[in-house]
Amino acid sequence: MPTACEHPRHVDIAIIGGGASGVLVAAHLLAADVPRKSVALIDSGPAPGRGVAYGTGAPEHLLNVPAGGMSAFADDPGDFARFLAAGQGGEPSPGLAATFAPRRDYARYLRNVLESRPGFSALEIVHDRVSDIERRDGFHLQLASGKRLHADAVVLAIGNAPRRLAVPAALSDRLLQAWDPASLSGLPPESDVCIVGSGLSMVDVVLTLAEAGHRGRLHVLSRHGLMPLPHATSSGHAGAAEADAAAALLEASAAGRLRLLRRMVAEASAGGDSWQRVFERLRPHGQRLWQTWDEGEQASFLRHLVRYWDIHRHRIAPQVHAVLTRLQESGQLRIHAGRLLAAEPATGNGCRIRYRARGTHAEESLQCDWIVNATGIETRVRARGDDLAAALLARGLAVPGPHGLGFASRGIGEVVDAHGHVAPDLFVIGALRLGDLWETIAVPELRQHAAGIARHLLARGSTAPDLCEGALGRDQLPAP
Ligand SMILES: Cc1cc2nc3c(=O)[nH]c(=O)nc-3n(C[C@H](O)[C@H](O)[C@H](O)COP(=O)(O)OP(=O)(O)OC[C@H]3O[C@@H](n4cnc5c(N)ncnc54)[C@H](O)[C@@H]3O)c2cc1C
Repeated sequence: MPTACEHPRHVDIAIIGGGASGVLVAAHLLAADVPRKSVALIDSGPAPGRGVAYGTGAPEHLLNVPAGGMSAFADDPGDFARFLAAGQGGEPSPGLAATFAPRRDYARYLRNVLESRPGFSALEIVHDRVSDIERRDGFHLQLASGKRLHADAVVLAIGNAPRRLAVPAALSDRLLQAWDPASLSGLPPESDVCIVGSGLSMVDVVLTLAEAGHRGRLHVLSRHGLMPLPHATSSGHAGAAEADAAAALLEASAAGRLRLLRRMVAEASAGGDSWQRVFERLRPHGQRLWQTWDEGEQASFLRHLVRYWDIHRHRIAPQVHAVLTRLQESGQLRIHAGRLLAAEPATGNGCRIRYRARGTHAEESLQCDWIVNATGIETRVRARGDDLAAALLARGLAVPGPHGLGFASRGIGEVVDAHGHVAPDLFVIGALRLGDLWETIAVPELRQHAAGIARHLLARGSTAPDLCEGALGRDQLPAP
């Protein structure tokens, strides 16, 4: 393995991953004019702030949280809306906080947040991938370029890994990935497409194809055949029942909570409120609701209810839902519920998808020209297939979290190692905390977790000197 210098460069804090989570941690660390810590943000993506969610350049890919919920700072909820308004040359109008902005605008916002932090000049942005990490007097990070970095503390912000979909080699050039809009918009407009998965990734695929003027049939196949539901068109307001809503659920089993939730929705609707408001009221209590279950109840939720929870909890903008409804009503978009059995070459250049229809033993099939993997995020850490996660597990620096979801972690995100020790200097944020917290992937939670990690790191001891300046060059922030 080539190395750039005998002694790797040293920083106080290395943040691995420059998606929303990594940028939010950096932003909170760089709050002071005189930086108290040296910080490196190492990102294998094209530019910090993008990550999987906000890297899309497509204007039709909207945030699924209204602008008022997307500020980088929990104590300044209007920050993102002000950024949007400034881009339009004005003051934020009262309605702006309720709008669903294009996700690419959020990448610009995060970049702006980072660049405008008082301590920004002290941040080193490294465009590279961390392939291995070893604990030795702090942490030694091996980068894919061959360079190395030494850090006193590390924050793992490596986020969302796409779930893989296996197809026979003969079909590999017929398989496209949902997070590759450029390839999707280049598909012949009359071709038939089978999208595997019916969650938010599928929504992106359908929007991309619709925007590109696709005219062929769009089949969607997923186990339940359930699509994300829309946000309410009017926002309503939180009431005093907020805390009571969660308290009533805390004691109940998975099935009991389902019954209570149905009753709460019925009562809300009788009182003229939307079911969406019931879910909004529960949102701040999501982590407690998950953590008060034992592993058996959590497993039961994951086995039987998670998909129903997801479509109600992770909602889409009403205008996006309207596009999906229109395509369904026209017959162009068809939803199929069933378990994928096989994808096989069919006559000509086509593909045949065989699946077991939900609730039956019947085998059905679909013909299509292209298959799109929209199965979403790989939440099981051992199945992620990235070298860094594998190295952390192999070295015993981390262990899988409950149900194999993400890494085991405690408190503000301290990683638990293979001996059960809680690391004081290795932190995790984002989707890799799913098993411990459940509610951990969206910005309203990420900004709080980022602030907590930053506060803790800033309170830690002193800076060691650079050992080898030349090993990693200072980098410029690339264009968004
Ligand atoms: C399609 C989609 C839409 C979403 N929309 C919203 C929304 O509207 N609102 C909301 O609140 N949440 C949304 N989310 C949830 C989303 O998970 C978070 O908001 C946020 O994007 C998570 O950011 P992250 O930094 O944790 O992960 P990611 O966005 O996955 O970023 C991780 C970064 O780490 C880098 N990386 C990974 N491994 C390494 C390595 N070994 N070395 C160096 N770099 C590495 C990657 O290149 C990437 O840049 C959405 C998620 C998806 C998938």
